[in-house]
Amino acid sequence: MKINYDFHIHTALSPCALDEMTPNNVVNMSIISELDAIAVADHNSCGNAKAVMTVAESTDLIVIPGMEVESREEIHVVCLFSDLDKAESMQEFVYSNLPMLKNKPKVLGHQRLMDEEDEIVGEEESLLSFATSITFEDVVSKAWELGGIAVPAHIDRPSYSVISNLGILPPDELLKCLEISQYAEYEEFDKRYSEYLMLQSSDSHELGFIGICRQTLDIPLAVDEKLSAKAIIDYLRNYRMRND
Ligand SMILES: [Zn+2]
Ligand SMILES: [Zn+2]
Repeated sequence: MKINYDFHIHTALSPCALDEMTPNNVVNMSIISELDAIAVADHNSCGNAKAVMTVAESTDLIVIPGMEVESREEIHVVCLFSDLDKAESMQEFVYSNLPMLKNKPKVLGHQRLMDEEDEIVGEEESLLSFATSITFEDVVSKAWELGGIAVPAHIDRPSYSVISNLGILPPDELLKCLEISQYAEYEEFDKRYSEYLMLQSSDSHELGFIGICRQTLDIPLAVDEKLSAKAIIDYLRNYRMRND
């Protein structure tokens, strides 16, 4: 099944995202943008994934719970999971490796936890947009162990990317997919890193960017099987095996 996707969307939980990134706004804008599947990827947390998933339950939109983990080397890695339990296990691991810094909402922005009615149910106090003490390699292997997939984020960018910060893409059999930002030339990167599945997502921090990359994937489904987060994650995890 050919799907339109955007696997890197921030909500109001990310201090750098606009307050308009509420669960209902994100889901509605994704539907308006004709997306079939999105991933919630807030900095170092999946705290709003449940609300976004609940809003989408009555629609055809698939919501993948995830987070954008920042490694010890200040590399951003989008970690995607087939279900909320797995994402929450990753969050537990990430939270135990966050620095003991408190967010300063007035300076850095709010970190709002919301419910499916877009009500603010809390504010995350630990500063989320900061490097954890987890190495890049361990982010990748932990996401894999939990049944998810780690995708090095915006590898075309001059900062917070695996290539800018390590100088190379370290060989790792658990790396199947790479992500480029909305500003990159898809064909160029797809050709340069042809052994990987190249994803391009919006990294939206505001509503207007959701779905802007207009990229598609072809997800294999069995007869009578419906599109699901699990089917997408299975496809991403098995990508290179399929090509070997
Ligand atoms: Zn990032
Ligand atoms: Zn991001």
